[in-house]
Amino acid sequence: MGRAWIVRQLSGQTSTRSYVCPGCTHQIAPGTAHVVVWPDDGLGGVDDRRHWHNACWKARDQGRYGR
Ligand SMILES: [Zn+2]
Repeated sequence: MGRAWIVRQLSGQTSTRSYVCPGCTHQIAPGTAHVVVWPDDGLGGVDDRRHWHNACWKARDQGRYGR
């Protein structure tokens, strides 16, 4: 359903930057395990990657944040 996304789980150890989660617009602090996703259409580059909290990504999957 909808767009296909490549999802990669990141452990806290490899996360040294902070990101803004598009789901809740809050910061993902360095050292926090989270997911990075990008569209599986072959067009996007590294710039199209989005970092999400685990819980926010899961909630989006369930449609709470729209499509
Ligand atoms: Zn979030």
